[in-house]
Amino acid sequence: MKVQHRLLVANWKMNGSVALVQTMNETLADISLSAVDVVICPPLTLLHHFTVQGNVQLGAQNISQHNAGAYTGEISADLLLEAAVTYVIIGHSERRTLNLETDEQIAAKVKVAVQAGLIPILCIGETLQQRQQEKTEQVIARQLDAVYASQPELLAKSVIAYEPIWAIGTGESASPEQAQATHAFIRDHLAKLDKEAASNIKLLYGGSVNGDNCSALFAQPDINGALVGGASLKAAEFAQICSSA
Ligand code: PGA
Repeated sequence: MKVQHRLLVANWKMNGSVALVQTMNETLADISLSAVDVVICPPLTLLHHFTVQGNVQLGAQNISQHNAGAYTGEISADLLLEAAVTYVIIGHSERRTLNLETDEQIAAKVKVAVQAGLIPILCIGETLQQRQQEKTEQVIARQLDAVYASQPELLAKSVIAYEPIWAIGTGESASPEQAQATHAFIRDHLAKLDKEAASNIKLLYGGSVNGDNCSALFAQPDINGALVGGASLKAAEFAQICSSA
């Protein structure tokens, strides 16, 4: 495996404030981030308050599959690029569930993002029931194939975040062994489409990552970073996670 720098992505969801951005700017400026890439995905109105410094870059939490037009409440790739955004989270389970995003829409969004020069962070993951029914690999394979089977050229330009839904916001992270096993499955599955892209792609784990469990997760060979929700709203804890990576 050739992946070098770990990638730490903060997903603030619909949280945060200008004050928290200022605290985060100051906290990240104080630590060495030379061995890690950090992406902060705040609500859109906070983007311009961030200082893009060193290895810290900006991300969005969603993107429209359309380029422009009558799509009230949506945001296009071009608008994100103008706001200095470089990454975009696509297909988060909250959007799949609450906004009824389909595999087809998610595939279209990944394509639009890559074509615009943004790096998509595609989120995939199973429900608790699917895991208990031993359907995790089946679900993940379907979510990956929906995006990449017909457009494998997008793989080399993507990041993938494995987020078991039962671990998101619950305080119950997947164990390092569970996460590693699924990440290895993802890499093997993608290798059928593009061997080199699969060996280089950054696979992030997400779901209750915190300052206590991050080191054991990062010790796994196929975990190349994390997508962090709740703990990314605490500047000191997020800085600790970045330092452990
Ligand atoms: P969590 O969220 O770290 O609060 O579990 C992760 C996510 O939803 O991306």
